[in-house]
Amino acid sequence: MRIPPTFEARLTSARMLAENVRELRFERVDGAPFDFAAGQWVNVHVPAAPGAEAEIKRAYSIASAPDGTPGFELAVTHVQGGPGSTFLHGLAIGATLSVVGPQGFFSRPLDKAQPSLFVATGTGLTPLRSMIHAALNAKHPMPMSLVFGVRTEADLLYRTELEALSARHPGLRVAFTLSRGAESWTGRRGYVQTHAQELFQALEGLGLGRPHVYACGLAKMVSAVRDLLRKEMQLPRELVHTERYD
Ligand SMILES: Cc1cc2nc3c(=O)[nH]c(=O)nc-3n(C[C@H](O)[C@H](O)[C@H](O)COP(=O)(O)OP(=O)(O)OC[C@H]3O[C@@H](n4cnc5c(N)ncnc54)[C@H](O)[C@@H]3O)c2cc1C
Repeated sequence: MRIPPTFEARLTSARMLAENVRELRFERVDGAPFDFAAGQWVNVHVPAAPGAEAEIKRAYSIASAPDGTPGFELAVTHVQGGPGSTFLHGLAIGATLSVVGPQGFFSRPLDKAQPSLFVATGTGLTPLRSMIHAALNAKHPMPMSLVFGVRTEADLLYRTELEALSARHPGLRVAFTLSRGAESWTGRRGYVQTHAQELFQALEGLGLGRPHVYACGLAKMVSAVRDLLRKEMQLPRELVHTERYD
C-alpha cells in the first residue's frame, strides 16, 4: 500500500461557516499541486496540548474539489476541550503545519459514478461537498441528491452555495433538514434518516440505474443510515459507502 506523503501547508485564509465551524484554506508550502480524490482526508499534526512540543494527529476531510492547485480547504467543528479542533480554530493566517495525505477510500470515481444520494450531518458534509463540486466541474451527467441535517438554520454550512448550485444544475437536488428548527422554518424536520428513503426512491425512479449512497458524519448517524439502507431497504453492500468521524 502506498504511504501517503507528508508536506508543509500554510493557512492562507479562514472564515466561520457557523458558530462552531471554521473553514480553513491551506496551500502547500512547496507550491506543488495537491493531488487527491474528492472524498479523501488528510491527517494534520497538532500540539498534544496548548504549547506542548509533543504532537498528535487529527483527520479532516478535504472540503474542496481537486483543482490541480497547491490549495485545499478543511472545515472543522470546534469540540469543547478537544486539542485538535481548538488548535485549528485558533490557528493564525500565515502559520504552517505538517499534513499527511491524501488518505482514505471514501470516494466516488467519476468514470463509474451512478446516480448518488449524499447523506451528511454537520461537518460530515465536507467530503460530499468535494464530490458534488468534482462532478459538476466535470459536467458528469448522473443526478445527485443531498440530504444535509443540522440542528438549527444557523448551523447550515455552505447553505447559499448549495442553494445556488442546485438552482443552476437541474441534476442536483439539495434538501436541508433541521432537528431543532425554529417555528419559522418551513423546510424538512427531523434526522437525515427520516428523509433518505424518499430521496433514494426519487433518484431510483429516474431509471438511470440503482443509486449509490454516500453517508458521512458521526458514528450514531452513520449507523442509523446504514441500518435503514441495508436492513430495512435491503440494499446490497456495494451501493452503500460510509465515513465515520468518531
Ligand atoms: C476520516 C475522518 C475525517 C474527519 N473529518 C473531519 C472534518 O472534516 N471536520 C471535523 O470537524 N472533524 C473531522 N473528523 C474528526 C476529527 O478528526 C477530530 O476527531 C475532531 O476534530 C475532534 O478532535 P479534537 O482533538 O478536537 O477532540 P478529541 O478530544 O480528540 O475528540 C473528542 C470527541 O469529539 C467528537 N467529535 C469528533 N469529530 C466531531 C465533529 N466533527 N463534530 C462533533 N463532535 C466530534 C468525538 O466523539 C470525539 O471522540 C474526522 C475524523 C475522521 C476519522
